[in-house]
Amino acid sequence: MQGGGCGAFAAVALNLMNRTGTADYAVTGTWSSKAAKEAAKYGKVNLVFPKADKPGSIPDQKTWSMDPNASYVYYCDNETVDGVEFPYIPETNGIPLVSDMSSSIMTKKVDVSKFGIIFGGAQKNIGPAGVVVVIIREDLLGNAMKVCPSVFDFTHIIKENSIHNTPATFSVYVMEKVLQWIKKSGGVDAMQKQSEEKERLLYGTIKQSNSFYHCPIDERVRSRINIPFRVGGKNGNESLEAKFLEEAEKLKMYQLKGHRSVGGIRASLYNAVTLEDVQSLVKFMIEFQKQHS
Ligand code: PMP
Repeated sequence: MQGGGCGAFAAVALNLMNRTGTADYAVTGTWSSKAAKEAAKYGKVNLVFPKADKPGSIPDQKTWSMDPNASYVYYCDNETVDGVEFPYIPETNGIPLVSDMSSSIMTKKVDVSKFGIIFGGAQKNIGPAGVVVVIIREDLLGNAMKVCPSVFDFTHIIKENSIHNTPATFSVYVMEKVLQWIKKSGGVDAMQKQSEEKERLLYGTIKQSNSFYHCPIDERVRSRINIPFRVGGKNGNESLEAKFLEEAEKLKMYQLKGHRSVGGIRASLYNAVTLEDVQSLVKFMIEFQKQHS
């Protein structure tokens, strides 16, 4: 579908909220927060735990206050900006589970049968921006609100075989190439194995740096994909971080700057980033630490 991840924030609510008029949201960072705000336009949103000022952990599911009347339970599998990833699939006792997998789709195996809806914006691991993949359980179709635009109505889109209007053809074409590449490279199994090797290498380097590099995220929920860290101690040294980025660019390592809302550094280890790329990054990090500590 079109509309990207943010389009899906609205589409999920427009298609499911009508069931009871309320929905449960687990807000663990930037993107689930935006999704909850969008959904609140269409019904009552219940936050299953209070929104943290600084994301960095996920409260134990035993402590969540879930609404037994919720139309669906929503969470973001991997918070791209904040570097928090769910290490488990939440239990919802039969209520449809919705997951934003924009930044983790195709990086690990997922039991699709556990979900009501999975969606993922393509631009991280499956192709160019502008397309979003939506997987919906058939029995959830047919619940869209009357005001739901046809371009966002999952039932209508399926009926029209995903060509209700002109699709983002070039993006879909490239996506097919990327999916063939994943298949040829050993499929999602191979992507997951590589992802685990990459994160082990980078977190290992951070851990062994004597706090020169510091990752603020609770170890139990650290993302394998988006790894935020500070340079020069726990609170980061901004001038050292600027130098880090400048020297990394000289070695052709780009886009390592943390999101503007978080600061510091963020390494995004999407499928297209190879193990060799991460080896180059940690080699540079070790060298940089030697020169600046
Ligand atoms: N969800 C997540 C987890 C994301 O990382 C992003 C984009 N970075 C979005 C949603 C929004 O996607 P889009 O920009 O395609 O609307």
